[in-house]
This record gives sequence, structure tokens and C-alpha cells, in this order.
Amino acid sequence: MQDFDIAVIGAGPGGSIAAKVAADKGYSTVILEKENLSQNGRYKACGGAVAWELIEKLHYPEDQIDRIIENLILHHIDGSIFTKKGKGAVLWRNKLDFFITKMALASGSALFSNEPLQFIQKVDNHYIIRTPHQHIVAKYVIAADGVTSSTLHFLDWPNFSPNDLVLTITQEMESTPQKIESSLGKEEVHLFFGIQNFIPLGYAWLFPKNKVITVGWGNNLTKIKNSRKEFQKFINLPFTKQALSSTKKIRFTPHLIPVGTRSSVYRDSVFAVGDVAGFVDPISGKGIPYAMMSAEIAIKTIHYCEKKGKEEKMGDIYQNRLNGAFLTVLRKKREFRAKIFQSDESLKNFLTLWQKHRSSKIIMQNLLS
Ligand SMILES: Cc1cc2nc3c(=O)[nH]c(=O)nc-3n(C[C@H](O)[C@H](O)[C@H](O)COP(=O)(O)OP(=O)(O)OC[C@H]3O[C@@H](n4cnc5c(N)ncnc54)[C@H](O)[C@@H]3O)c2cc1C
Repeated sequence: MQDFDIAVIGAGPGGSIAAKVAADKGYSTVILEKENLSQNGRYKACGGAVAWELIEKLHYPEDQIDRIIENLILHHIDGSIFTKKGKGAVLWRNKLDFFITKMALASGSALFSNEPLQFIQKVDNHYIIRTPHQHIVAKYVIAADGVTSSTLHFLDWPNFSPNDLVLTITQEMESTPQKIESSLGKEEVHLFFGIQNFIPLGYAWLFPKNKVITVGWGNNLTKIKNSRKEFQKFINLPFTKQALSSTKKIRFTPHLIPVGTRSSVYRDSVFAVGDVAGFVDPISGKGIPYAMMSAEIAIKTIHYCEKKGKEEKMGDIYQNRLNGAFLTVLRKKREFRAKIFQSDESLKNFLTLWQKHRSSKIIMQNLLS
């Protein structure tokens, strides 16, 4: 049995940043990851789009980026097109996530990969944690094992309501850089909206990487009648058909996105971070930066509370710091989502504003009304 200050479950961006920050602060830290990371990390169904700020913050190497992006092209299926400018990158999640995991290892965190969580229970002041080959004791637990978190399941936290879940389908289509650039442009990603006869509460996308087009579709779980048929409708749009002609399907993966945050994100020395907590932008589906921010805030909260002898206030302090950093805005966006997706007219009104403003400004300054 090995003893750690902090056990992190899951080596996504949230878990790995938590482990890095914890190890930097001198805590003995371990990451337990279900998948085998070996040399190249693990596949994760994702658009892989991040803002340039994140690339800079991580000092992420440019040769690990699959495409640098300057424009989001927002298509409404009635033919209208809106353009949002802004520098970003599209990348493979195995590379990004493993890069961050390696930062955690360099800071001194341990990692056990190919070790899914099988058991967790609090005994006295510690958690007993078991995976197929490891038996660990830890004072704090960072639950960073994604939207279907086993950690919270074993600890009897409530599940997300179906209304707070989006079902996505991701299909990776192999192509060539030349072909991708002639159909989708060199620096563009494409998003597709339309409430009537397309996607009532979500959107679809074509995100070009270097030699692959990531095709995605997502709709609120409660609005789906037949996900495969609805995904196929997107594939059959003339624009999509043309972009995907002579490409080869190499992967097809369904995955959930949480779009409503948990009312409680801390309990008894367990911190929910990233997708476990529902920290995803409910309009755009962006979750990578929120996973990283929440993880960093969780560790800094532990450090602060221990130093100041405020352990009994840990949950409140974590919640308040999250609110100040991004959670108030995410919750407001969740409220406004229904208003944006109530009709094609309101959706197009939002897309028009989104061309010029950040979505947080549109919502917080109530520019929609
Ligand atoms: C189709 C799709 C497209 C998306 N596109 C974007 C995008 O373009 N940009 C963006 O910012 N966000 C995007 N997101 C959201 C983003 O992927 C998530 O918000 C982000 O990955 C959350 O990070 P995380 O660290 O919380 O969890 P995850 O990245 O889900 O990591 C969880 C980790 O825990 C591991 N794990 C799971 N169960 C166990 C277990 N029992 N034991 C041990 N380990 C376990 C998993 O293997 C995984 O490594 C997208 C999501 C989807 C589904």
C-alpha cells in the first residue's frame, strides 16, 4: 500500500494539471489513469480546438499543433454564413493531454496508467483507493475522470440529469492536407447550426487537422430521436458531402459532454474538476480550459486552507474561487442557452453578435435582448 497526500483520478487536462500544481507545491501526488498511456497517450474524442492563449500559457510546441486557425466559419443550414475571427489551434488530444501529463511527471508526480479505479472509500481521515494493480491511501482526492466519473459513482454522488448532457458523435476522416485546404480552407474551422430539421439544441462541426478531418455532431440528450440518423443528416449536407468526398473513415466514437454544472463540487476532501463537475461552456462545448482552471484552483485551495488552518471551509473557498474565475459566467450561459436555441431567429441573432463579441460579453451584458 502506498501513501500519498493527493490522488488524482484521470490523466486528462484537468487531472494532469492538478498533479503538476500539487507536485510543484510539495505534495506527494499520484495520477491513476484507466487507459494505457505508453508512448503516445490515449485517444480522446474531441474537436481539439483551443484558443491561442492556452498554447502560449502551456508553451505548447508548435510542431505538435495540427493546424493554426484564424477564423470560425459559422454556417446556418438556411445558407447564411457568419465569420468569427480569432487565433487558435486544432490539435490531437492524445498529444496535448500527454504533454501535460509529462509536465506533472517532471514536477515529481507518480503515474500509474492502465489502472482504472475499482474501489474508493473513506476510512478515518484517508481514502483507500484500489485499481487492478495498485492499492493507495491518500488524504485528498481530485476527481478528474470525466463526465461518467467512476470516482463520484463509487462515492454515491448524484448523476447528471439527462437535460444536462449532450450526446456527441465524432468521426475521424483521413484525407490529405491539399484536399482539406481546397474544401475547408487553410485556417478555418466550420460549425453548422439550424434548429428546425437539423439540431434542436446543439451543433455540428468540421475541424480540419493536418491529414484528418474531425467530423462532429452534438445534440442535447433529451432532444435526440435517432442519433445515427441525425448524424447522417449532417454528413449528407452538400457542403459536408463535398468536403468528405474521397476521405476514409478511421474512427467513430460517441461521447457525452456535460452542459450543466453540479450544484456541489466538493465533499469530504474530494474535489470535482473539469467534466466531472460539468465545467463546460454550454453553448460552445469548450471544456479544456475550464478543466485546467478548476484543477489548479482545487490544489491552491487545499494549500491555502492547510496553511491558514481553514480546512473546514475548503468546500466554500473552492466554490467561491471557481465563481470568481469562470463559474458564474458558465451558469449564466446555461440559463441563456434555451433563449438562444428557442428559434432560428434567436440563434441567428446570437451568431450575428458572436462574430464581434465574446459569448461571455453577449450573455453578461445581455446583448441578446
Ligand atoms: C466530441 C467532443 C468535442 C469536444 N471539443 C472540444 C474542443 O474543441 N475544445 C474544448 O476546449 N473542449 C472540447 N470538448 C470538451 C473537452 O473534451 C472536455 O471538457 C475536457 O476533455 C475535460 O477534461 P477533463 O480532464 O475534465 O476530462 P477528460 O479529458 O475526459 O479526462 C478524463 C480522464 O480520466 C480517465 N478515466 C476515466 N475513467 C477512469 C477511471 N475509472 N479510472 C481512471 N481513469 C479514468 C480517462 O481515460 C481520461 O484520460 C469536446 C468534448 C467532446 C466529447
